[in-house]
Order: sequence, then C-alpha cells, then structure tokens
Amino acid sequence: MRNSECRLRNRKIIQLQTHVQRIQFRTPQSEIRILKKMLLDPYKRKINYLRISVTDRCNLRCRYCMPEEGIPLIPHEEILTYEEILRIVRVFAAEGISKVRLTGGEPLVRKGIVDFISRLSHIEEIKDLSLTTNGIFLREFAQDLKQAGLKRINISLDSLRKERFCQITRKDDFERVWNGIEEALRVGLSPIKINMVAIQGLNDDEIESFAQLTFHLPLTVRYIEYMPSGNGEEWKKSDILTIPQIKSRLENVGKLIPIPSDRWDGPAKRFRIEGATGEIGLIGPVSSHFCDDCNRLRLTPDGKIRTCLFSDEEIDVKELLRKGGSDRDLRERLLVALKAKPERHPINTHQFKKCQRNMSAIGG
Ligand code: SAM
Repeated sequence: MRNSECRLRNRKIIQLQTHVQRIQFRTPQSEIRILKKMLLDPYKRKINYLRISVTDRCNLRCRYCMPEEGIPLIPHEEILTYEEILRIVRVFAAEGISKVRLTGGEPLVRKGIVDFISRLSHIEEIKDLSLTTNGIFLREFAQDLKQAGLKRINISLDSLRKERFCQITRKDDFERVWNGIEEALRVGLSPIKINMVAIQGLNDDEIESFAQLTFHLPLTVRYIEYMPSGNGEEWKKSDILTIPQIKSRLENVGKLIPIPSDRWDGPAKRFRIEGATGEIGLIGPVSSHFCDDCNRLRLTPDGKIRTCLFSDEEIDVKELLRKGGSDRDLRERLLVALKAKPERHPINTHQFKKCQRNMSAIGG
C-alpha cells in the first residue's frame, strides 16, 4: 500500500468549530468516507441526547408533581406540531444527537403519537429511541408502539399497592398500569424499566417489594431520588430516600452484583441481585452529582430548549421555526443552547431555587 493511502486511512481531522466537532475518517474495511459529527459543550461533554416533552397534559395527578386541579396548560397553538418536532430532530441529529426520549406530561395522551414515533424511528442518525410513560394507556398501545419502531420503554410506578397507587396518583388505575406492563413484556419491548421515585414515609416500605419483581420478571427496577421540582406537595430534604439508604435496603434482599454500564445507560448505576432475572438501577440526582457526564438537552412542548432540568434558561426554537427560520438558523440556536449548558445543577448549593416550570412541561 502506498504511503499516501496509508496516511489517508489513518487521517483524523478534528475541527473544533464553536463547540461542534466534526471527525472525518476512513474506515479500513470499507474505505467509505464517513462524516461523523459530535456536539461538545464548553465543558467538553459530548451532548448526544434529546428528551422531548411532546405534551404538558397528563392523565394522573401525582401528589409530588402536580396539584389535584392540574397546572395552567400551554395553549394548543403554542405546542409544537409533530412536523416541527421532526424538523428539529432531523437538524439536531445531523449535528450529533443520536438518542431521543419522548416524555411529557403523558406522551400517550397526545393524538397521533404512534405515527409520530414511526416517523422518528426512520431518522437514520437516531440510534436509540425510547419513551417514558405512566402506563395508563400502555395496554392499548404497546403492540403499535413496538411496530412503530420503539424498542424500549420506561414506566413510572411508585407503588405496587392498589390503594397507595391511588393515594399517590389520585387515580384508581393501578390495574391498568400493571396490565400495560404485562402487555409490554408480551409484545417484547426491551428493556422495560420501572421507575420508582422513593419518598420517605410515602413508599419507602416498598423498596424490597419492587426489587422482588426482578426475580420473576425481566424488568429493570430503577429507584430515583425525589428531586426538588414540580408543583406538587412541598418538597423537603427530609423526604428524600438517598441512594445509599436504598442500596443498603436492597442488600437485605440479596447480594448486589454490579453490571458495567453501556453507552445508553445514562446516570443509572446498574446491579443485579444474585439469582434475579431482571436488573436494578440507582439514580441519585440529589445525593450524587452526575453533571460531569450529562449528555442531554430537553425540548419543551412549546419549543424551548432547556439545557438543565434545574436551570430556567430557555432557548426558543419555535419562534424561529414559525418565522420561517432555515435549518442553518436552527443549528445556530442549537449551538447557543450548547454554550449555555451549565457545568452543574445547583441542588445542594445555596444558589438553588426551584425551577419555574412544572416537570410535566419540561419533560421529566
Ligand atoms: N407521564 C410520564 C410518566 O409518568 O413517566 C412522563 C412524565 S413524568 C413528569 C416523568 C417522571 O418524572 C416520572 O417518573 C415521575 O415520577 C418523575 N418525577 C416527577 N416529579 C419528580 C420529582 N420531584 N422527583 C423525581 N422524579 C419526579
């Protein structure tokens, strides 16, 4: 092989241009030139994950998230259309976003969600597409979601007891959610993650029962620390069940065997209880900072990019779209958002203040 060919093969051009890194290289096997883009924020974090809240509407009223009467809703005409979201995703994906999660509000209450997911799943650069739901409509939707190209799903469930579920969510729908989980298993969505927000005095006595599920079912049970957000009942630091506390409770169930994280894991620390089929995930946004590895941006239902769950700074993309902005303008807004991404969230500091928007309008 000639020297010049060798040089070409090994050539790696890294252009750092206002935080966008383009890497060009030649793959030895195919000699096909691939252009790969990477988004870097000012702290050199690789940003490849967009969480999209497709609606602020929710069919539950979880006490820690919302008051019983709900929250003031974003007018329909202010909510991004699916076309608008698809355009944003296409432009961002071409710059380096490869992971998308749909959330809300409750994403399954928005009309046309299945068709939208199918269109998203055809965007070539999106390698990981997932959805977070409260599971109320999952039994009806699981099969269609799978067919639309959704691979995996997160289901929020804070109690395995019917009466307590009702007390927390203010809706008597435990069975619907459970049937939804069974249907998701039946149609082969995988992995299926059950997210439990652990709160002292509310559901802390169910840590072990949730873990027991992993012995019988191929589910990942994830425990999440209660965060100071939402318009629900007053958050108090003493309400948090910290990850170390949860972990020591789980050690009573069985030996926790760590599982190495893979590239789509995010901030969860993964374990398997010895002898179990499913997994355990521990997510501690309050007790442990994982900001150093934060790879995400959020898109609100009304078209604002949020750079951190706990920062009220928002970068408007809807206004740009509706004024006829070009893809290039959109890319520039993305770079503005990247630049604005804070190094750390302020929980645990004296600068902390609760964010203005409710979790359902940000996309928890
Ligand atoms: N409706 C969907 C659902 O229930 O999964 C998506 C939206 S919901 C806001 C997303 C997740 O945020 C849920 O798992 C919910 O429990 C969680 N969440 C809401 N407020 C929270 C808080 N203060 N601390 C921790 N998690 C919270």
